[in-house]
Amino acid sequence: MNPDDLTATPTEPRTMTDAGPTTQAGAPPQATPETVAPAQGHAITLRKLSAFYGETHAVKEVNLDYAANRVTAMIGPSGCGKSTLVRCINRMHEEIPGAHATGEVRLDDLDLYDDGVDVVSVRRAVGMVFQKPNPFPTMSIYDNVAAGLRLTGTRGDTRERVEQSLRGAGLWEEVKDRLNQPGIGLSGGQQQRLCIARTIAVEPEVILMDEPCSALDPIATLRIEELIHDLKQRYTIVIVTHNMQQAARVADTTAFMLAGEMIEHAATDKIFSKPDDSRTEEYVTGKFG
Ligand code: ADP
Repeated sequence: MNPDDLTATPTEPRTMTDAGPTTQAGAPPQATPETVAPAQGHAITLRKLSAFYGETHAVKEVNLDYAANRVTAMIGPSGCGKSTLVRCINRMHEEIPGAHATGEVRLDDLDLYDDGVDVVSVRRAVGMVFQKPNPFPTMSIYDNVAAGLRLTGTRGDTRERVEQSLRGAGLWEEVKDRLNQPGIGLSGGQQQRLCIARTIAVEPEVILMDEPCSALDPIATLRIEELIHDLKQRYTIVIVTHNMQQAARVADTTAFMLAGEMIEHAATDKIFSKPDDSRTEEYVTGKFG
């Protein structure tokens, strides 16, 4: 990762992820997943990360390594600080009045809280998908995806990127004939995949997902989980979930938090079968939480 990429708002696609295929004059864009050079995932490292709401210390000196191209699930009882922690990764936490964070969040070697780092670029590099699908309500399917590109000033062939992103989110075949219809006309699961398409359109390095399936039915949930499996080939993924089965299905590693502290982070199998800490075992076996 070149630190220069995040020290100013980019106006050109970064070389590292400028994956659009070259098309010959007059030829229709051939935007299939196979033609898109894979973006290599990047690691996120937390060191002594603390997050506060005023005097309330919600995340307490957390150290955690998110490996590149892996899915890490964040689990723990409601209110333990999972959402707060992930919002620190793309610097959204500091947008809340009275809130601040201390410590380090590094994307590869770059400290995202360094003075010279541009916050808009951080949010581009670290995309986020929320609990409730939140397509822009007045926009068409196409414009919802294109909006991310416009907001971040990404240049290039917008139509091609929209198609690539919808393909990447597993939605293209379902919407290709109605791109001009409103995004909010889609089903909940489709809306969430539309939000994922909007997120990947700007070619982030990392995708944060905060309970992305909690508003979805089981079929739509399964579809998103399959998608997460595909997306990790290209991105590093952090997913907050209260659903133990979901963590077991999608995550390579799982981190258990309690009262703002990181208790244990290990391979998902280990967390669910023989965790080191008795509190982890009590939580994953349903004894509290
Ligand atoms: P989780 O995602 O694990 O449910 P949160 O990160 O939402 O936990 O919350 C962690 C702690 O921070 C809780 O005590 C919660 O009440 C507090 N908190 C969360 N959001 C805010 C906020 N906007 N203002 C003040 N306190 C908050």
